[in-house]
Amino acid sequence: MLERVCILGATGSVGTSTLDVMALHPGRYEAFALTAQHRVDELAQLCRRWKPRFAVVGTAAQATHLRQLLAADGLATEVLHGPQALADVAAHPEVDRVMAAIVGAAGLPACIAAARAGKKLMLANKEALVVGGRLFMQAVAEGGAELLPIDSEHSAIFQCLPEDRRQWAQRIDHIVLTASGGPFRTRDPATLHAVTPEQAVAHPNWVMGRKISVDSATMMNKALEVIEARWLFDLGPDDIRVVLHPQSIIHSMVVCRDNSVLAQLGTPDMKVPIAVGLAWPERIVSGADALDFLKLAALSFEPADAVRFPGLQLAYDALRGPEGSTTVLNAANEVAVAAFLDRQIRFTDIHRVNADTVAALIPGAADAASLDDLLALDLRARSQAQARVQSLSEALTR
Ligand code: NAD
Ligand code: MG
Repeated sequence: MLERVCILGATGSVGTSTLDVMALHPGRYEAFALTAQHRVDELAQLCRRWKPRFAVVGTAAQATHLRQLLAADGLATEVLHGPQALADVAAHPEVDRVMAAIVGAAGLPACIAAARAGKKLMLANKEALVVGGRLFMQAVAEGGAELLPIDSEHSAIFQCLPEDRRQWAQRIDHIVLTASGGPFRTRDPATLHAVTPEQAVAHPNWVMGRKISVDSATMMNKALEVIEARWLFDLGPDDIRVVLHPQSIIHSMVVCRDNSVLAQLGTPDMKVPIAVGLAWPERIVSGADALDFLKLAALSFEPADAVRFPGLQLAYDALRGPEGSTTVLNAANEVAVAAFLDRQIRFTDIHRVNADTVAALIPGAADAASLDDLLALDLRARSQAQARVQSLSEALTR
C-alpha cells in the first residue's frame, strides 16, 4: 500500500533528499503534503512532479502566487499557509509519515502535532527537540508516535541499538557522537574572527542548508546534537561524548556495558539515514554510494579543542541547568547565526551572543512546561540575543 508522506521543509537540503529517495521507490510512497517557507517557485516545481494533496507556504501572498502557478498547470493541490496549516497537514488523519525537515524552533509546533497524532515521525529538525525536550517526548509517548532519528549521528546510534527500545538502557554504557570538525578544524584559532559567511558554509564533507553549515563550523551543531541525543536515547550528559573524526565515515558509536563498541559506517550522504527512517525496520535502496574500503586511507580521531570550539561546552552546561536552558541556547544561536550570515557580527561573536544570552536568561529558564511557555521563553531569548547582536554590530562599525 502507498504510504502517505508529509514533508515539512520540502525545498530544503533534507527535504529534497527525502523526495530523491522516495523517487527510487515508485508505488511505495506518495507525497501527501509538501511545505516551504521560501522559494515558492521551487515548491511549485515539486508540486508538478509529486502532485501532493496539500502544499503549505509561509504567507497569504505566497499562497496566492503558488495557487496561480499551480492553476496554470491544472493541478488540484490545495494551497494553505502559516504555522497552523503546518501543524494541520502534519497531523492530518490520512498522513502515515512525517519528515520534519524545517530548520529551527519554527518546526516545533508541527512536530508536536505530528507526535500527538501518532505519526511515524522522521526527525531531522534537531532544534525542535532541543527547544521542546521533555514536552516533545511526552507528545511522542502520549500520541503513540514512532520517533525515527534522521540526523546521521542519531540514526547511527539508533541502528546500533536493538529494535526493542526497552532494552536500550540496559545495553548502553555511553555513546560517542562523531564530529567532522567542519571547515576550520585546522585553521589558526586566532584568525577565526575573520571568517566570512562563504567560508563558514563551505563544509568539507556534507552539502547542507546554510544554518546547519554555520553550526558545523562553530560546532554548535554538535552541541545541539548532544542535547538531541539526551532526549532521543534518554541519557545523561556524562553518557554522551564527542570525538572528532574528520573523514565522516563512522557516523557515531555505542559503547556497550561490556565495552564492546558498535559503530555505523557509510559515505557521508543524508540519503542513507533518510532511507533508514523511511523504511525501518526494512532496508531499501537509498541512492547513496557504497563505501569503498580500499579507497579509505585512514579513519582518524582527535579530541574536540575547547578553545577552537567553545560552543560545545554550552550544551553540557545547559543540560545540567534548568530544563528551559536548552531552549534559550537554541534561540540565541539561531539569532546569532542569522546575524553572522547577514554580516552584522563576526564568526567569533556567535559564541559571545550564545554565552551571554544563556548567562542572562538561564536563572529564569526553569518554568517552561507548556508549548506556550516554551515559545514565550524562545521569544524572550531571541530579544535578549538580538540586543547583544546590536551591541556587537555597533562595536564592529565604530
Ligand atoms: P534548509 O535550509 O536546506 O531547508 C529548510 C527548510 O525549512 C526549507 O524548505 C525552508 O523553506 C523551510 N523553512 C525554513 N524556515 C521555516 C519556517 N520559519 N517555517 C516553516 N518552514 C521553514 O535546511 P536543511 O539543511 O535541510 O536542514 C533542515 C533540518 O535538518 C535542520 O534542523 C538541520 O539541522 C537538520 N539536518 C540537516 C542535515 C543536512 O544534511 N542538511 C543533516 C542533519 C540534520
Ligand atoms: Mg548530524
